[in-house]
Amino acid sequence: MAVLVINSGSSSIKYQLVEPDDGAIVASGLVERIGEPEGRIEHSDRAGSTETTEPIPDHRAGLQLAFAMFARGGAPLESLGITAVGHRVVHGGKVFTEPTVVTDAVIAEVDKLSALAPLHNPPNLLGIEVARALLPDVPHVAVFDTAFFQTLPPAASTYAIDAELAKKHGVQRYGFHGTSHQYVSQQVASFLGRPGSELNQIILHLGNGASASAVRGGVAVDTSMGLTPLEGLVMGTRSGDIDPGILLHLRRSADMTVDDLDALLNRHSGLKGLSGVNDFRALSELVAAEDKQAALAYDVYVHRLRKYIGAYLVALGRLDVITFTAGVGENAPQVRADALANLAELGIVVDAAANERRAKGPRVISAPESKVAVLVVPTNEELAIARAAAELSG
Ligand code: AMP
Repeated sequence: MAVLVINSGSSSIKYQLVEPDDGAIVASGLVERIGEPEGRIEHSDRAGSTETTEPIPDHRAGLQLAFAMFARGGAPLESLGITAVGHRVVHGGKVFTEPTVVTDAVIAEVDKLSALAPLHNPPNLLGIEVARALLPDVPHVAVFDTAFFQTLPPAASTYAIDAELAKKHGVQRYGFHGTSHQYVSQQVASFLGRPGSELNQIILHLGNGASASAVRGGVAVDTSMGLTPLEGLVMGTRSGDIDPGILLHLRRSADMTVDDLDALLNRHSGLKGLSGVNDFRALSELVAAEDKQAALAYDVYVHRLRKYIGAYLVALGRLDVITFTAGVGENAPQVRADALANLAELGIVVDAAANERRAKGPRVISAPESKVAVLVVPTNEELAIARAAAELSG
């Protein structure tokens, strides 16, 4: 039994064939530069890895080429016992509170939500439509990035702007990366051998995109991303929190259009805007070489992170565990050390040696005297999507 997980973006499609029980990856791949003169497909399965370049005019061609890759290894897709297809969908609005079997009505609803996520939902939908046509006999399940945060109390999900205008245009905080936050919060409970219902957690998903969440007894009560994935922490290329007045100022004084501002905040801000690089490893190299802008970018990144940790500590009142996950959270001990430095008064003490130790699975990095457990837990959104799809198709 295997589930095909598809993450379809504007010019790329990531896919993974996963056995939902044990998380074994049967095959995985990436189709990128769709629509550009030269596309690229990278595919790995038990027969090995291949990489090819050829023009990929659209998502249909991309998925067809990816599916054809399976046959090269001698095991065509039809022979692999696929029981369901799980699709990552970024915005589920207020409508989708949990993973949902795709029907025509679901597609129409996700399409309506494109106004809230114009960069994400349309390519997500394309992936669903193409995959449904190519694999019509298995259930397709949409798993929403926003769903885990449907439980945010109104005090956390409401923006203090004109209430009627906000309602009319769906302006509220939805949160993103929910599949990861939910998966990690559950992993934390099972790793600690305690019921999730007893734990107050802060989860820091620090990847190229980054977000924090506060989870009380398994239920999300706050998160750093909002109407869009722009709000909150400093990210690779996104600004995170800024004074909204900056946009008005730049509109008026720098004559920037809405598209200019969109590009600024989504693509030319964050670590990239401050230092010229968005990749954390590249940033660390610049910091080590005493590059001043890189050092500033690092300091702004850590300062913002500490602000959110403080805010969520107070929001939760009692804190049991802080968990780092995703590319930076799992692999950058310096960020973890700096994010939690000098918090012994609050019962948070990181063990320097445990923090530096490299390991693959979930691990404790807090000192024995730390009242709050500090963990590193690898995220696995594909597995979470595969499990959700398997459950609904069973
Ligand atoms: P993700 O979006 O979860 O794939 O995370 C991507 C980010 O993780 C990039 O900024 C990478 O530079 C960063 N990252 C991955 N591996 C490492 C590492 N060993 N040390 C520091 N950062 C890393």
